[in-house]
Amino acid sequence: MPPSPDVHPHCTGSEMKSTNSTIRCEHPRPAVFLDRDGTLIEDHGDLSDPSQVVFYEDTVTALLRLADRFALFIVTNQSGVAKGTITIEGVHRVNGYVEEYLAARGVPIAAIYVCPHLRSSGCECIKPKPHFLKEAERNFNIDLRRSFVIGDHPHDVELAMQVGATGIYVLSGHGMKHRGELTMETIVVDGIGEATDKILATAS
Ligand SMILES: [Mg+2]
Ligand SMILES: [Zn+2]
Repeated sequence: MPPSPDVHPHCTGSEMKSTNSTIRCEHPRPAVFLDRDGTLIEDHGDLSDPSQVVFYEDTVTALLRLADRFALFIVTNQSGVAKGTITIEGVHRVNGYVEEYLAARGVPIAAIYVCPHLRSSGCECIKPKPHFLKEAERNFNIDLRRSFVIGDHPHDVELAMQVGATGIYVLSGHGMKHRGELTMETIVVDGIGEATDKILATAS
């Protein structure tokens, strides 16, 4: 049987179970939840076409380093859908491109979660509400307390706090602009590369 990325180095044979063609470790694994705009790619407002996507130069290298030890998710608020400035199809096109671009470079994204609502709608899925992280916990057997959230908005750090994960605030994107709105102690770094250094240095 080929080695599976789902097998954890700390698990012994008795802790793994075979399901179909893959071996799965029964231990929950930690994840990194990544904001999209201003964290992985440049924030140019509402995006509806892959041609508008510009990755930060260290995004792929950083995610490759994280992918060895963490499940990777993207969690993004796209209220432009509710405002009518972009369509959900446009958002899916852009997300599909981001996912394929990363996959082609060896970075698997487990899922991309989108909230298309306005904050005023009172929906359950807008960051910093932990809806999507709870979904990942259930559907992907994620250990949220050993997980991280990286983002350029105070909501991303707050999201981490909601589930007992560690938040990392990046100064890329709108990070510099919103820094003064941070109401909690948090790790602050220049961008995704340095965020990765912090995670790999602190993760147990
Ligand atoms: Mg952002
Ligand atoms: Zn929502």
